[in-house]
Amino acid sequence: MDCVFCKIAAGDIPCHRLYEDDRALAFLDIMPVSRGHLLVIPREHVEFAYDADPELMGHVMRVATRIARAAQSALQCQGMNFILNCGAIAGQVVPHAHMHLVPRYPDDGIRWPWPQGTLAGDDAARLRAAILENLA
Ligand code: 5GP
Ligand code: ZN
Repeated sequence: MDCVFCKIAAGDIPCHRLYEDDRALAFLDIMPVSRGHLLVIPREHVEFAYDADPELMGHVMRVATRIARAAQSALQCQGMNFILNCGAIAGQVVPHAHMHLVPRYPDDGIRWPWPQGTLAGDDAARLRAAILENLA
């Protein structure tokens, strides 16, 4: 499997490892957007978080919250973004599901520039119906 995160999980590519167990690992992002930016990944290769076993992603979240508390104490950041990009169009570059933990600091220069619209009543009803139809 030619996947950089599978290689990191296997120990074939080095990383600054923060945590590992039989299902997940956490390590520092090599190109951090803020001080302490880290990633938590499932060991198993799955491209999109929403296609993964929910139990596995639950475990990833369990690890993430634990690491986040440690990072918050260590770095004294004032908040943190937990980010899961699924698909190239959503900003996913590495096609192995991963959760970003991005510690946030005053004046860190990070902006969240997504344009927001308004939810029209008739569209909300259509959206809700379409999603609920597929939820079963
Ligand atoms: P994405 O854009 O796919 O959500 O994020 C991928 C992240 O993985 C990026 O923030 C990038 O810096 C990080 N990354 C890519 N290759 C490596 C690597 O070899 N080692 C580490 N530690 N991080 C990596
Ligand atoms: Zn992989």
